[in-house]
Amino acid sequence: MAEAISHFINGHTVAGTGDRSGDVYDPATGTVTARVPLASVDDVKQAVDAASAAFPAWAATTPLNRARVMFRFKELLEKHAGDLAKIITSEHGKVLSDARGEVTRGLEVVEFACGIPHLLKGEHSMNVGRDVDSWSEYAPLGVVAGITPFNFPAMVPLWMFPVALACGNTFVLKPSERDPSAALFMADLLKQAGLPDGVFNVVHGDKVAVDALLDEPRVQALSFVGSTPIAEYIYARGSANGKRVQALGGAKNHMVVLPDADLDGAVSALLGAGYGSAGERCMAISVAVCVGDATADALVANLAPKVAALKIGPGCLDPEMGPLVTGAHRDKVRGYVDAGVAEGADLVVDGRGHVVDGHADGFFLGGCLFDRVTPDMTIYREEIFGPVLCVMRVPDLDAALKLVNEHEYGNGTAVFTRDGGAAREFAHRVQAGMVGINVPIPVPMAFHSFGGWKRSIF
Ligand code: NAD
Repeated sequence: MAEAISHFINGHTVAGTGDRSGDVYDPATGTVTARVPLASVDDVKQAVDAASAAFPAWAATTPLNRARVMFRFKELLEKHAGDLAKIITSEHGKVLSDARGEVTRGLEVVEFACGIPHLLKGEHSMNVGRDVDSWSEYAPLGVVAGITPFNFPAMVPLWMFPVALACGNTFVLKPSERDPSAALFMADLLKQAGLPDGVFNVVHGDKVAVDALLDEPRVQALSFVGSTPIAEYIYARGSANGKRVQALGGAKNHMVVLPDADLDGAVSALLGAGYGSAGERCMAISVAVCVGDATADALVANLAPKVAALKIGPGCLDPEMGPLVTGAHRDKVRGYVDAGVAEGADLVVDGRGHVVDGHADGFFLGGCLFDRVTPDMTIYREEIFGPVLCVMRVPDLDAALKLVNEHEYGNGTAVFTRDGGAAREFAHRVQAGMVGINVPIPVPMAFHSFGGWKRSIF
């Protein structure tokens, strides 16, 4: 029987008042493993009631004591990292080592939040006028909320709540309804770490829950990560309601390969960055822009057999690639591959027929590689979010930069070259928020800011 998942409100698991629920799958087998409640407006109100009631005492707790909760939470996360990774794999499908890596990247934010007494010191100026001093200080806002995507069910919430809580805010998290259990597991660890009831709450749900948070006057700030249309909607409606909003959206990350690049290095980078986590990463490389036909021919010849030979299977066995998150998403990605063929791109590796032995109902798709993709094609213009890499051919660095800069998304990008001058020029002229030089996925550490440009962030 499918397990019934709960909300987490005021320190307790709660069934909720809504009469709607959603299916949670094991993507490796295609079976429904749990039912997630979809919160009603009243459920969201209850969570905000709890967070509002908990705010005055938590804001008055000294930063040192808030940091001590974070230190204990960090120890518990380290101790249970393997359990959390298993939960992620069971609902998201990504391979276990990747899930473990996600927990590590989230833990780094908790480590950062442990330093909050130092980070909250503010500034002080003596004698800005005769006998007058001036200072600035940081104050918590109150109740803040996070709305997060399916592809990093632990890491993206961990980008948000450790810092918000350490600063003295109280929090309502609305995780993805497709893989909701990681959020509940972390809520329990926070409670074990000594976080007072009501300071951290989890409500599951869909648009109804999100709209309730957007329109709730007591929610002071919203942090969103997800697709661009929803990011734009959340930014517009949240800020129209007078809230602080940061909304991170989708991506189409280009890796430019110059003729002098270490080709083996570039191929190995593309294999990990294009097909790791089945391409379900906002920093995945989905376009390889080759300068010159000779570069493209050599790259495709080297990469294609490796894509065709990717070890694909259930994430719990830790192969190279697991299934996609749901059957609907797998079908959507397969539809993009069909569209690429119909629009005339050259499908060098076709993963559409890939079958995993003993897992015929799992949401698997083999790696796909397109060559000779052009800017007008749907597979180039839209975010596919699956194991599909597009190779494009341009004559020179200027043409490569024009392509990257004209794309509506600008999350991350990379250049592979041995020429320091070309690398510097690329880094200065490219319009994307995070730039890698011979590094395919340039994700900043917790003590630097993460963020794209253009329609990848609002
Ligand atoms: P999504 O936009 O479908 O969902 C994100 C969140 O919004 C979920 O919690 C979901 O329940 C909620 N939501 C969905 N539809 C809604 C609606 N109509 N109204 C209100 N809320 C709604 O995104 P996803 O499929 O879960 O995640 C994948 C997307 O996230 C990709 O586009 C990926 O690039 C992006 N992403 C971006 C970053 C980044 O840092 N820029 C990081 C991770 C993922």
